[in-house]
Amino acid sequence: MSQTILVTGGAGYIGSHAVLALQQAGYEVIVLDNLSYGHRELVEQVLKVKLIVGDTSDRALLDQLFATHNIAAVMHFAAYIAVGESVVEPAKYYRNNVIGTLTLLEAMLNASINKFIFSSTCALYGEPKIVPIPEDHPFNPISPYATSKLMVEQMLSDFDVAYNLKSVRFRYFNAAGADPNGLLGEDHSPETHLIPLVLLTALGKRDSVSIFGTDYSTKDGTCVRDYIHVADLAQAHVLGLDYLLKGGESQVFNLGNGNGFSVREVIETAKQVTGKEIKIVESDRRPGDPPILVGSSDKARKIIGWNPKYPDVNEIITHAWQWHQKRHQ
Ligand code: UDP
Repeated sequence: MSQTILVTGGAGYIGSHAVLALQQAGYEVIVLDNLSYGHRELVEQVLKVKLIVGDTSDRALLDQLFATHNIAAVMHFAAYIAVGESVVEPAKYYRNNVIGTLTLLEAMLNASINKFIFSSTCALYGEPKIVPIPEDHPFNPISPYATSKLMVEQMLSDFDVAYNLKSVRFRYFNAAGADPNGLLGEDHSPETHLIPLVLLTALGKRDSVSIFGTDYSTKDGTCVRDYIHVADLAQAHVLGLDYLLKGGESQVFNLGNGNGFSVREVIETAKQVTGKEIKIVESDRRPGDPPILVGSSDKARKIIGWNPKYPDVNEIITHAWQWHQKRHQ
């Protein structure tokens, strides 16, 4: 019989792609999502999975959920993710991302569930001293968002020692793209991420794209990021889950392609992919943004056999463009 995985935040961008990958790998899935940003129809109509609407900080709900379903492991995507917002509203981030996760972990331990896959972030490295960044790079989070993720990582280390909670923590670089078959895509509201904003501009849904900072010490003065296809991220989560279910020890893995693209390069690539003019407005730096984030994922390749299928940024933007066109037709 197939095992059941609880996916928190499964109505969101990365979570929904992970649900699809889990289904394709033969797992049963239940989604817990408070729908503050997620999409009900995605879970119920597109993925056709049971959706429990609720919050990770609702202990009574979690206790009931774990008592009524035989959950083998939890994949935790539910979190607030906007770096800029976290600088002006840190309490929102610490409450949801830290307290919500602590409540979830305590409910899991109470129900004797000890396998946990966590969405972490490369943002906790801050401004890198070594590029590509390895997992043992020192931490220097420069936004409350990044600090909230680091706090959970620390909890997970301590909980392994004290309570035998086994976790795989994935530190994502910049998730982008869409399901190659066009079933799912990126649909945040409000949208803050570069690639969807560029594509919405190409579609004529926005007038222009702001470039946040043109005076960074990078190749063209704009921030450099390592863009990773969301389907490759989702696949890594399935591999991490298989690894834990086979009795693997806790691990932390970077997930990136090891290639850096500047904001200007992303916009240029999007112009080629879409064949549209994209108007640019040069703006001030956005608080909390490190100039360059590019990662080494050698460890994930070696230990869980991760092998990204779509490392090409052109292909990542092409899949995102296909989905955006369909979504807005
Ligand atoms: N960015 C930008 N204009 C935008 C949105 C983002 O110049 O409208 C930049 C941002 O400063 C960062 C990069 O694009 O350097 C990627 O930002 P995004 O929000 O997509 O992801 P993050 O790096 O915050 O996870």
